[in-house]
Amino acid sequence: MDIKQHAKLAQVLQDHGLKVTGIRLAILEFLMESEDHPSSEAIYFALREQGIHCVPASIYNNVNILQEKGVLKSLHTGNTETRYDALLDSHSHFYCKKCHRVWNTSVEPPQLECSELPCAQVDHSELIYYGICMDCIDDEDEEC
Ligand SMILES: [Zn+2]
Ligand SMILES: [Zn+2]
Repeated sequence: MDIKQHAKLAQVLQDHGLKVTGIRLAILEFLMESEDHPSSEAIYFALREQGIHCVPASIYNNVNILQEKGVLKSLHTGNTETRYDALLDSHSHFYCKKCHRVWNTSVEPPQLECSELPCAQVDHSELIYYGICMDCIDDEDEEC
């Protein structure tokens, strides 16, 4: 990671009241470069490949803290694992039911008007399109 990027991510952590640690910087950096909304398990394996060794529980705990503090967003695809996203701007997702990859889409999730649900305080929403990605469709064609 270049020093400028490093300083920027460290600032993000501090702005959210978090201590800057090597593992948090590594998690954030990986998520920002990743296009596939990884699970904490996937983050663990990716960091291990980069030579960063720590136990899966430590990755899980750190990812959880980052999410709680609003540095990351969690995404629930309906699969058992929670996926994580470092892109905080409002966007929706496409989830492939076959290979379990998740893509960003440019479609904005619709805003809920207060008048439509007067007795609730909504804190976030998720819009996920489910289907099969082109790669998996091509694979299926080959099997036939
Ligand atoms: Zn797929
Ligand atoms: Zn996303």
